[in-house]
Amino acid sequence: MLRIGCHLSSAKGYVSMAEQAKVIGANTFQFFTRNPRGGSAKNINPEDVSEFLILAENQDITPILAHAPYTLNACSADPNVRDFAFRTMQDDLLRMEYTPGNFYNFHPGSHVKQGVDTGISFISQMLNEILRPEQSTTVLLETMAGKGSEIGGTFEELRQILDLIQYSECVGVCLDTCHIWDGGYDIVNHLDEVLMHFDQIIGLDRLKAIHLNDSQNPLGSHKDRHARLGEGYIGMEAFKRIINHPSLRNLPFYLETPNDLDGYAREIQMMRDAYIE
Ligand code: FE
Ligand code: FE
Ligand code: ZN
Repeated sequence: MLRIGCHLSSAKGYVSMAEQAKVIGANTFQFFTRNPRGGSAKNINPEDVSEFLILAENQDITPILAHAPYTLNACSADPNVRDFAFRTMQDDLLRMEYTPGNFYNFHPGSHVKQGVDTGISFISQMLNEILRPEQSTTVLLETMAGKGSEIGGTFEELRQILDLIQYSECVGVCLDTCHIWDGGYDIVNHLDEVLMHFDQIIGLDRLKAIHLNDSQNPLGSHKDRHARLGEGYIGMEAFKRIINHPSLRNLPFYLETPNDLDGYAREIQMMRDAYIE
């Protein structure tokens, strides 16, 4: 069965997200742990969470994927920005334990003139200070478009981070189709080869989730502008191959396309129609 959902607003809490998921035919979803531009998170409401856990069970919603704020930059040159990243992720991971066994995705960060190696060492240092072997949440590094000085625009950079992490069983990867296309990986004409390369460098066993986005820009553009499925350079035929690929078909898929809920419902239905059971 296809696991598919989209990014939902967390403004009204967990129960509201389960209700939104039901309306659009989603059996998984992504949400921001707090304002995407940063700031403090609302307190967890234990009643909201316990009601959600029952709804999730009844509606078969699993897993859920939390997304860290975009402002989180673990490899900033500014120690205050790194400190914000540290405190935010540490707090988010504590909150994630209210809904155990799920995923927490973050953008590795931008090194801004410090160089890739310095960036990678800051990111892995932060993870080594935060990760605990007893945590139930798997932290996911997102594949990036390689815009500016973003780390994670190549599989090799993510591998380097993984190699430096002590509790590396707590860490996986979330593959964003728009980002890797913009990063130069041709998933339209060479999906098998790209996935083989991913397997060689990172290992497909590390791949835990897919962000399913079309791209407004051509291969290798390093831009990161999402498009609706079938309205960008990746195109619907490629998405049909992606969701049905033997190495991907059992992973959860998340739409981050420019859509309202009706648009998400349509895209989810399109993908369900294209999924070969
Ligand atoms: Fe992201
Ligand atoms: Fe993404
Ligand atoms: Zn993006």
